[in-house]
Amino acid sequence: MYTIGIDVGGTNLKAGLVNETFDIVATKKMPLVWESPEKFAEDLCVLATGLVEENGISREEVAYIGMGVPGVVDVKRGMIVKTVNIPIRNVPVAELIHRVWEIPVFLGNDADCAALGEFYHFEKKDIESLILVTLGTGVGTGLIFNGKIHCGINGCAGEGGHMVIVSGGDLCTCGRRGCWERYASANGLIRLTKAAMEENRQSVMWSLADGSLDKVDGRTAFNAAREGDAAAKAVVDQYLTYLAEGLTNLINLLQPEVICIGGGVSNEADEALLFPLRGKVEEMRYDKDAQVHTQIVKASLGNDAGIIGAALLGRE
Ligand SMILES: [Zn+2]
Repeated sequence: MYTIGIDVGGTNLKAGLVNETFDIVATKKMPLVWESPEKFAEDLCVLATGLVEENGISREEVAYIGMGVPGVVDVKRGMIVKTVNIPIRNVPVAELIHRVWEIPVFLGNDADCAALGEFYHFEKKDIESLILVTLGTGVGTGLIFNGKIHCGINGCAGEGGHMVIVSGGDLCTCGRRGCWERYASANGLIRLTKAAMEENRQSVMWSLADGSLDKVDGRTAFNAAREGDAAAKAVVDQYLTYLAEGLTNLINLLQPEVICIGGGVSNEADEALLFPLRGKVEEMRYDKDAQVHTQIVKASLGNDAGIIGAALLGRE
């Protein structure tokens, strides 16, 4: 049997045909064009049935469809409650798909799905708990405990990016000030980098960014730090401290076996990111004397995590 995992992104719908060992055997994608709930469900069906037909399998060989959505879902009712950046509100997506294809449909939040994908990868090493922290435009977190997504009473749990680490700090999109994602996301790193450049006109960061603040990205400070630039080293150190503050909060509260760090920033060399980060968490954590500690590692599935995680939603 196969399953189909669909990753609903802000601009694209990506679907994967996934085999019994949860490896992706084929993918297909199309732009996300929002016209109506019916058209949205129709596009999802076109994608799913296209995958089936193009790979020479029958519909009966597909056990279910799993779907990761960037927003809040009502798992029991098969409904997308609301999404971030796309005007999808209260869409009974499972019911709409059933008009075309009578197949079980499972929904999940995209960060939760990615965490489930990473968890499956680690599960072979006998773990029960994992948190995936994705560093992108924001900070996404997905919580897996006892092998299951922890989504809370209303599907909104696992918003670790919105825990406050600087009271009265920068204003966040959620309405509070000082949220972790304002500081530890790739965007947070870019803001820190630009501020340091404005104060240090001689910094190597300027030449790496071709003399323009518009060309600063999440690698600028890391690359300049490697060249020995003092201002860049300070940026990286401050960024890693912000990152470690939030990770330590998660560890102190939840003590997962593994925390995976994903997203673009996680591609930095271990010497620049993972190793100093572990050192900072080590100094901050409450459980310094414990025998067993949370492992902090890089996420391993990259962009595939969303599809694999979605395909895992109906596993039980
Ligand atoms: Zn926030």
